[in-house]
Amino acid sequence: MTKQHEQLHRDETVLRSMGMTELRSIYEDMGLTQEELAILTRPRRIVTATFPVTLKNGRIRMFLGHRVLYNDARGPAKGGIRFHPDLTVEDVSELAFLMALKCAVVNIPFGGSKGGVKVNPAELDSHELEQVTRAYIRAVADDIGPYKDIPAPDVYTDERTMAWILDEYERIMRRHQPAVVTGKPPALGGIEARRYSTALGGVHVLEEAMKERGLTPKGARAAVQGFGNVGENMARLLHERGCRVVAVSDVNGGTANPSGLDIEALRRHKAGSGTVAGFSGGKRISNEELLAVDCEILVPAALSNQLHAGNAKEVKASIVLELANGPTTVDADDMFYARDIMVVPDILANAGGVVVSYFEWVQNLSNDFWPEEKVLKRLHRTMTTAFSDVHARCRGGKCRLRKAAYELGVRRILDAERLRGNL
Ligand code: NAD
Repeated sequence: MTKQHEQLHRDETVLRSMGMTELRSIYEDMGLTQEELAILTRPRRIVTATFPVTLKNGRIRMFLGHRVLYNDARGPAKGGIRFHPDLTVEDVSELAFLMALKCAVVNIPFGGSKGGVKVNPAELDSHELEQVTRAYIRAVADDIGPYKDIPAPDVYTDERTMAWILDEYERIMRRHQPAVVTGKPPALGGIEARRYSTALGGVHVLEEAMKERGLTPKGARAAVQGFGNVGENMARLLHERGCRVVAVSDVNGGTANPSGLDIEALRRHKAGSGTVAGFSGGKRISNEELLAVDCEILVPAALSNQLHAGNAKEVKASIVLELANGPTTVDADDMFYARDIMVVPDILANAGGVVVSYFEWVQNLSNDFWPEEKVLKRLHRTMTTAFSDVHARCRGGKCRLRKAAYELGVRRILDAERLRGNL
């Protein structure tokens, strides 16, 4: 288990209070009834299972796994599976709630779910991890499925894990069911563009946000915190659009160049050294300095709670695009709003991944493989429509976009519940 994944999980658990804090703050404004609140604050189904796995030393160990279906009024539930030693059912549940909101905000016909196994992946080899994954799927097989609940990768699970999930589920069902899981390798029905779709979806939303601020990517300056799957792709995509990426960072520190970093050279540097720190085309900076760099766009794409009351006043950007989950604390959010800094919230900004997962599911169900242009075109349309829906709800940007996004998600979920006769 890498330190990074440990941190990611720990910080994301704080999100649960963030999600519920936001819900508490909007429920009075929206005039939600007790019945509506009861639907929003309780998951529909929690499955907890213990299952034995034989380890390579011949001993049998019991593992604990959960799968929480939070809400499926809008369609089958969608949410990742994470492996983590500190996993609790409460964390899983609240992350499932955020998935329900995210899918509703981008208006894809999915509910929200999440799952995971309490395990430290660093203690197991690949064969043991495969056995844990397969045993977990056997334990929850009745509760997942293409029309029930569709898993995906999350902290410390990846394409390879999804391939094991697919294989185990299909063995149990004795038929092919590629739509049971997304984020699969392309050779098993996955989509190549899923690998960069979170960043690309973020770019589409950012371009709309920039228009509102009279900015264009060409010539604008951006700083990106985190240079992993999301941050590296974001820096590349911004650079390709003529944006000057003036600073990036990772867990080891950052690099800055006011004239713009050469992103291709930086990617080569990272491929060789494992970090962006020490890049010869920039000046070494700390992560705190990155957040305060002179720029128009700040993209937190690493961990939660990076922007807080202690550093929010140093931020120079006029737009903060939350590609990480929960990078802004409630205090910092208020400070940004007071300073007229536009925060594009995580449940909108980083939804490109789940949107392309939806396309993967559609393709698998129909056995019709879309050309890449179609995937990219529909991603663009879905993300820009979501931005405009949220922005319109915000009375043309006169409230916090986060509040508007939560309200929109909540409203759509409750409308579906009402139409089903549950309210
Ligand atoms: P990743 O593990 O590939 O990359 C994380 C990056 O953050 C690494 O470069 C790491 O060095 C850096 N980092 C860690 N600690 C840091 C610190 N203290 N300061 C600066 N950088 C630090 O993860 P990822 O898949 O790129 O995900 C990043 C964020 O985006 C997470 O919050 C994740 O939940 C969120 N997210 C990811 C996806 C996706 O499709 N991968 C989708 C939605 C949300």
